[in-house]
Amino acid sequence: MITRMSSLFLRTLREDPADAEVPSHRLLVRAGYVRRAAPGGYSWLPLGLRVLRNIERVVREEMDAIGAQEIQFPALLPKEPYEATGRWSEYGDTVFRLKDRKGADYLLGPTHEELFTLTVKGEYSSYKDYPVMLYQVQTKYRDEARPRAGVLRGREFVMKDSYSFDLDDEGLAASYQKHRDAYIKIFDRLGLDYAIVAATSGAMGGSASEEFLATAESGEDTYVRSTASGYAANVEAVVTPAPPARDLAGLPEAQVHHTPDTPTIETLVDFLNGAGMGREFTAADTLKNVLVKTRTPGEKEWTLLGVGVPGDREVDMKRLEAALEPAEVALVEEADFTANPFLVKGYIGPGALQANGIRFLVDPRIVTGTAWVTGADKSDHHVVDLVCGRDFTPDGTVEAAEVREGDASPDGQGTLVAARGIEIGHIFQLGRKYADAFELDALGPDAKPVRITMGSYGIGVSRLVAAIAEQHHDELGLVWPRAVTPADVHLVVAGKDDSVFEGGERIAAELSQRGVSVLFDDRTVSPGVKFADAELIGVPTIVVVGKGLAKGVVEVKDRASGERTEVDVDAVVEHLT
Ligand code: ATP
Ligand code: MG
Ligand code: MG
Ligand code: MG
Repeated sequence: MITRMSSLFLRTLREDPADAEVPSHRLLVRAGYVRRAAPGGYSWLPLGLRVLRNIERVVREEMDAIGAQEIQFPALLPKEPYEATGRWSEYGDTVFRLKDRKGADYLLGPTHEELFTLTVKGEYSSYKDYPVMLYQVQTKYRDEARPRAGVLRGREFVMKDSYSFDLDDEGLAASYQKHRDAYIKIFDRLGLDYAIVAATSGAMGGSASEEFLATAESGEDTYVRSTASGYAANVEAVVTPAPPARDLAGLPEAQVHHTPDTPTIETLVDFLNGAGMGREFTAADTLKNVLVKTRTPGEKEWTLLGVGVPGDREVDMKRLEAALEPAEVALVEEADFTANPFLVKGYIGPGALQANGIRFLVDPRIVTGTAWVTGADKSDHHVVDLVCGRDFTPDGTVEAAEVREGDASPDGQGTLVAARGIEIGHIFQLGRKYADAFELDALGPDAKPVRITMGSYGIGVSRLVAAIAEQHHDELGLVWPRAVTPADVHLVVAGKDDSVFEGGERIAAELSQRGVSVLFDDRTVSPGVKFADAELIGVPTIVVVGKGLAKGVVEVKDRASGERTEVDVDAVVEHLT
């Protein structure tokens, strides 16, 4: 196939888009692969769509290879199945909900366990029907709190989700293993560097859930791995000390803010002293209630956050910004605690924001660290981690909830090192949760019903475009791995003479005939523009037909290494195939 740049629907940009904070976002927009259509919603232009389709193809091939069968559900789904499993409400604000003209409730599917379970129940009834694995490649909808980084975290995105249905636990383990192996093949074929990490606590070795994290600085997930064993886990999954409900329970009633009343300086001071903060506080201590606002770049809406700071310190905006990056942070007001009771509109969790009208009491020595949170309901109290403490060492009442680099590995072997990654796949042994909800049984050989056990397995197909771009780029542009590149060869005509254009045409036609797809820069713009675009677009092989043609040679450049070779024009097609 020959794609002519003279007519290709493509405009590259010389400037970085203002809202792009990670390399993949910057480059995919600049190279004309995607365009923003809405917050967390992106349009795929011709080159981007090709990369997306290439990834889908690899995913489908490996899914088919393990015997999974492709089906397709609607994205617009009725409420009832999600109500049956409790997820209509559990999913909270993440679900896009809507009503039809008759007033019936619908949602846009964030994931499809319910529908797959119901469909299998509708078709299969005997133990002889099982096991079965089904999948789809489909658009999913999640109203993410912080859509970010282009297609990396969208509100509309493409996911491959598959589901396995087995008669017993051994069957589920086998289906899980098949998916795990397929995922390894997929991510290897896509040229990714990634780690497989435990995704649920206590999950070591044959775990019930694992994530595939593509190594990247820009990743939102942090994982730790042991220096001495194969142990690797998402930090979210590493067993952390339980929230000290105990400690709160031991405090006098008045100090636990479970009433709707506004807390006073006295109750805060009592609380802090009761919690053994290492020094005595008095009402004369100035405690600042700093209100900041944050928003994701490109968004209009701000989220208000409360932060506690000692009265004699400035709020460290730089540190807050770093922790909340890429969100913008701006100071709203600083007020004396005494004048402005400590009522905040949200809290900062590890990398997460929540605006839920919760109240919290903060150790006033730190901008950031650990806070005791009590909701309106007494039972609601729990501990949250605030952003990036100083070197604050908790004093016994509060235990560190975060694992750190250098900590002993939970399996007792070696110490932990930390790294960041992008979640590109997630495999899960669900067990019987959904089969129970919908009574999915198979009639056994003895005519007794057997409850089916399930697994679910996701891949972020559209996210992969960005994850691959994160790992495969340089300062000049993208550098696609062969498996996903939008073309095999980027053929540049550099010069004005008819002869170079004719030479280019001839090479393009021959390559195309041999099944090599060619992105052919037949435009009449300057060679400088063409070269810059070729680097930006990132096709792995660049062929330049220019001055050398007069002496019978063209230049072949390897985009990744930058290595250039002069090749005899008559041998170039052979050379490239
Ligand atoms: P994350 O932790 O990044 O929010 P998740 O754990 O919520 O992801 P899953 O429910 O496990 O996601 O979905 C399966 C896969 O779908 C993920 O591993 C990820 O690759 C992809 N994915 C999830 N959310 C998004 C999103 N908002 N945009 C793009 N891809 C996504
Ligand atoms: Mg999520
Ligand atoms: Mg996740
Ligand atoms: Mg996940």
